[in-house]
Amino acid sequence: MHKHQLTSLAESFLQKKQHGHYINNQWRSPEGEDRIEIVNPANARILTSVGVATGQEVHRAVSSARAAFNDPSWRRISPSERESLMLELARLIDERHESIAEVLTIENGKLFDQARSEVRSAAATFRYYAGWCTKMEGEIIDVSMRQAPGKQNFSFTKREPIGVVAAIVPWNFPISIASWKLAPLLAAGCTAVLKPSEVTPLSSLLMAELFDEAGFPPGVVNVITGDGRTGAALTSHPGIDKITFTGSTEVGKLIGKAAMENLTEISLELGGKSPAIVFADADLKAASKGVAMGIFRNGGQVCVAGSRAYVEESVFDEFLGMIKKEAEKLKISDGFDPEAQLGPLVSDKHLQRVCQYVDLGKQHARLEYGGKRSGTEGYYLEPTIFSATENSGAIVSEEIFGPVLVVIPFRNVDEVIEKANDTPYGLSSAVWTADISKAMRCVDELQAGWVFVNSIPRSDPNFPIGGYKQSGIGKELGKTGLYNYTKIKSVNIVY
Ligand code: NAD
Repeated sequence: MHKHQLTSLAESFLQKKQHGHYINNQWRSPEGEDRIEIVNPANARILTSVGVATGQEVHRAVSSARAAFNDPSWRRISPSERESLMLELARLIDERHESIAEVLTIENGKLFDQARSEVRSAAATFRYYAGWCTKMEGEIIDVSMRQAPGKQNFSFTKREPIGVVAAIVPWNFPISIASWKLAPLLAAGCTAVLKPSEVTPLSSLLMAELFDEAGFPPGVVNVITGDGRTGAALTSHPGIDKITFTGSTEVGKLIGKAAMENLTEISLELGGKSPAIVFADADLKAASKGVAMGIFRNGGQVCVAGSRAYVEESVFDEFLGMIKKEAEKLKISDGFDPEAQLGPLVSDKHLQRVCQYVDLGKQHARLEYGGKRSGTEGYYLEPTIFSATENSGAIVSEEIFGPVLVVIPFRNVDEVIEKANDTPYGLSSAVWTADISKAMRCVDELQAGWVFVNSIPRSDPNFPIGGYKQSGIGKELGKTGLYNYTKIKSVNIVY
């Protein structure tokens, strides 16, 4: 692993042998016996451990969020004061971004530069939603309800915070995804219990104290650690008013069932198997770079990764050659190597899972590039490219969540739209073409929550993200993301 001089904050944080839960603006040692070891994926060394919040601890965190929600110090705070708290939080995140990013690179394996942008983008998300605090609106509505002679209706809607939110986050972008949930829910006036992934909880724990420092009252944001058991205890807790979850479709379905037991509102951001469509008329150089970045960025551990590339038959061989060249150029190394372009996968378990897909792929597709582990320590995998003629088989239809691309030829727009839509997922898509008519047909007919033309999919705080079909329910970010955390009260006054 490359040498990197840690900031003193990250160094002292990482020296702790064990981390507790952050409840009511206080650290609490884990009560149960269970501990989860956190491992550096770049060298497989154990870093530290975290607790697995028990039912009792989950209850304490939810109760603390409930008490904060009911407390006038939060409930009656003016929109502009809420805005100021969020702006201060964004400032603190920016100020500490190096330290948070260091911890993120060490626990997740991602490139340090990308970890820094992730943390700074979280600050930007808090800043964006800070602006919404003062812009919440209802509507005045004309109704026809009959009243006694001389009496009239005055009807309006008001938006109220939904209440206590359980926010459950995966390991691939722990800080940005946490901000996509915490920023709008705080802007709406809610309180939260955040449960980061058991694989990457440290960066969220390091960020936890900033809420206190920014001036948020105790209990507004609580952070508890644990695995699926903690997540299940949290999502089935009757004190939760809303669950916002990002993770796999499999777990999303379990959460949906738990939510229905208590009729808790849910938003689900789930898995994907997104297509990248390359027409012969596209700028092939830009497309090959884009398709490569779309699947190899963050080691392919990106929900919107373009893992199926459909390439028009007449340029198929040429484009495949170009993509292989892009893969060849990638320097595989740990996140602190300033020249690294592909870091390790997040864990040994995940590497094994991705390798199984590579083996399956060899049975029905042609391995064009990579496919082997790389290096002598850590969880590295070469960028991997398959070509296939059939639009079926595990590597074409299942989410791999690694640097594995399958390239498939097509003849015309009808065929490619049918192939691209032939999946239970519908998260994202990319289309590369110089022909606006082809682009617009794809925009209209692709069953995906995101369509990016001539670029790789990228997020922006003002740009809603959310899947069609089994990729999720609801949207995050933008105004829609804010309204996730509000409920509408309809009021009629007779006068
Ligand atoms: P995961 O579903 O295994 O875990 C996600 C979170 O859910 C973790 O915090 C985990 O502890 C928790 N969890 C597990 N079982 C639970 C249960 N029964 N009840 C409640 N919580 C439970 O996902 P992962 O492996 O951490 O992340 C990868 C997945 O996330 C991929 O499928 C990816 O596509 C998806 N993802 C989607 C988006 C999006 O915006 N749509 C973004 C990032 C990642």
